[in-house]
Amino acid sequence: MTTDILVIGSGISGLTYAIKIAEQHPDLQLILIAKDELRETNTRYAQGGIAVVSDFKQDSFEKHIQDTLIAGDGLCDSEVVKFVIEEGQERLRELQDWGTLFDTQQKELHLTKEGGHSEKRIVHYKDQTGLQIQEALIKKIQSFSNVRCLENHVLVDLITDHHTKTNHQKCYGAYVISKEKEEILTIGSKATILSTGGAGQLYNHTTNPYGATGDGLGAAYRARVKIEGLPYVQFHPTALVPKVNGSTFLISEAVRGEGAVLRNKKGTAFMASYDSRKDLAPRDVVARAIAQEMTATDAAFVHLDCQCIEKEKFQQHFPTIYDTCHHLEINVPKEPIPIAPAAHYFCGGIAVNAQSRSQLDGLYAIGECSYTGLHGANRLASNSLLESLVFAHRAALDSSTFVTTEALEDDFYEALPEWEGNPEVSVEKMKQMTVLKNRLRKVMTQYAGIFKADDDLNKAEQKLSAIYLETLELYQKLKLTPQFCELRNMVSVAYILIKQSQHIKTNQGTFYNADNA
Ligand SMILES: Cc1cc2nc3c(=O)[nH]c(=O)nc-3n(C[C@H](O)[C@H](O)[C@H](O)COP(=O)(O)OP(=O)(O)OC[C@H]3O[C@@H](n4cnc5c(N)ncnc54)[C@H](O)[C@@H]3O)c2cc1C
Repeated sequence: MTTDILVIGSGISGLTYAIKIAEQHPDLQLILIAKDELRETNTRYAQGGIAVVSDFKQDSFEKHIQDTLIAGDGLCDSEVVKFVIEEGQERLRELQDWGTLFDTQQKELHLTKEGGHSEKRIVHYKDQTGLQIQEALIKKIQSFSNVRCLENHVLVDLITDHHTKTNHQKCYGAYVISKEKEEILTIGSKATILSTGGAGQLYNHTTNPYGATGDGLGAAYRARVKIEGLPYVQFHPTALVPKVNGSTFLISEAVRGEGAVLRNKKGTAFMASYDSRKDLAPRDVVARAIAQEMTATDAAFVHLDCQCIEKEKFQQHFPTIYDTCHHLEINVPKEPIPIAPAAHYFCGGIAVNAQSRSQLDGLYAIGECSYTGLHGANRLASNSLLESLVFAHRAALDSSTFVTTEALEDDFYEALPEWEGNPEVSVEKMKQMTVLKNRLRKVMTQYAGIFKADDDLNKAEQKLSAIYLETLELYQKLKLTPQFCELRNMVSVAYILIKQSQHIKTNQGTFYNADNA
């Protein structure tokens, strides 16, 4: 297959990008792939909302910029912070034009507050903002005849000079497995857009869905593209402790924004002894405080006390959280919610410029898989959906020009080499992949979680090396499957995270190594 543009990922970043190109360039052909159904993304689980300055009487761009820089703890790119925040309102309006609903009060957007924000500026739809956005974008993308969506198609590798034996230093598309046919397709494209989301699945406890295995990062790493800031993993402070259908469910920060208070096993509200912003301090501060309280009181969780929120208000503003807790027989807001931190967001990713271009010509990265410089060492709550919108727009402007001025002939893309691999599938060996994935998660959780130490990072490196060798042995013998692709990527991403962590000598934002303190 060949196309003008290949988009990999159907979350807010991939779909926003694809809609913009499809709408403004009906002459360009797009293929958009997703490893599961289009709607199975991190985006759909976003509860809190999008941080956008809209009440200019109380709020200002400057305040939002300052809050972002403070959370990022010295590692943000201030120019990027400025343009992302200033362009937010226009991007939000587009989302509304495409059919996304947000809560309003007296015809104005209803705004909430989250940790690290000095003003109320989170635009939301109940506690289902992500789902609302995801559904509206899917509906919109399906209205274009120049976009072909392929669900259940999994990125294997980016096609580069390594495969074509050329030296143009470009990305030429991707090898992709169709889950249904179990065959590897070659998709040639003039521009390739990675919007593959995060890698929370590297840890035992994560708010991310099963598919968040860092596939785009792994593929970019194999294509020798620069990856930055991976050690800055944000742990969300308040994930519900009992699992829901085998997954970790998030209790939105907006619940604390409405006044809920964290209490330890003894019932003490402890945040004041860690930070003057108390329960609404940035996430890294709150997550570390909770982890410390759990250790000090020998408890597997702390409590989120929501009694100050009226039942009707709770039910109206947080219907999903309310229903989920009641299903587990937690009578909110009267009864406290047992919570603990969980891996939530990768601040680092594929290094890109202000147009979302990676270092490899023809390869763009948008959304959680990218590193733009907005988040620095710690993402300010609700800034990631905003980042996705702004960079999808910028990537669309840049890549449409890139594609139309592409010098390589169509014949070149039509003659790309097929994937070469092993045909053998062994059920026994397939089971080993699940074992290896679980081993990797255990290593990362034990040695590279909220608190790190030099010795622990070295142990993690050794254990990962063993997992890598076992993975390599399987790779040399077996047919590539989607599960295998995930394992390969998880090993690569974990390895980069550990190696980059070993070089960080200053604790900033989400990164904390006890030996640096
Ligand atoms: C529970 C939860 C709550 C959150 N709440 C908020 C919030 O309130 N506000 C906020 O700003 N942010 C929030 N976030 C973060 C935010 O949702 C994500 O950062 C954002 O949605 C990422 O969007 P994305 O488009 O980059 O990737 P995603 O939405 O994760 O989409 C990734 C896409 O890539 C595809 N993909 C992945 N690997 C492959 C592969 N190998 N082959 C083919 N396709 C592939 C997936 O199928 C999917 O379609 C939350 C995250 C979670 C998990």
